[in-house]
Amino acid sequence: MKKKKDIKNIKKSKNISTKIKTKTEKTKISHREKIILEIKKKLLNQKKNLLEEAMAALNELPEQTVFPDLGDQASAEINRNFMLRLRGREHKLLKKIEDALERINQGKFGICDKCGQEIDIRRLEARPVTTMCIECKTIQEEEEKLRE
Ligand SMILES: [Zn+2]
Repeated sequence: MKKKKDIKNIKKSKNISTKIKTKTEKTKISHREKIILEIKKKLLNQKKNLLEEAMAALNELPEQTVFPDLGDQASAEINRNFMLRLRGREHKLLKKIEDALERINQGKFGICDKCGQEIDIRRLEARPVTTMCIECKTIQEEEEKLRE
């Protein structure tokens, strides 16, 4: 019984030293965390706007005539395709926003998918849905160019 207590005490003192360490680290990352919180707010807003726009567009769908010169059937068809494409693009962006929000909640936000380094905070502010640091993104884009 006594031994157990001793171990506990040792653990306790260890905890104190780690506590001090994390405290200094915390003040260092808090600026980044603050910006990430702002990014989170922006993302939630963007998500809301996207959903509202998509819903408004869907509600307008039946009456809207984008191509009045074409026959009714054809214009309705084009309209529908246009909407599907738009929804596809919005859907993709929504997915990216949701992924970013999930990464924020999991504390993984702003870490490069490829190299595991922190992504520059200014890059995150400009493009919150990014999952790669500028170096890795540049390499990827160059590889894509070569493949085309
Ligand atoms: Zn990277």
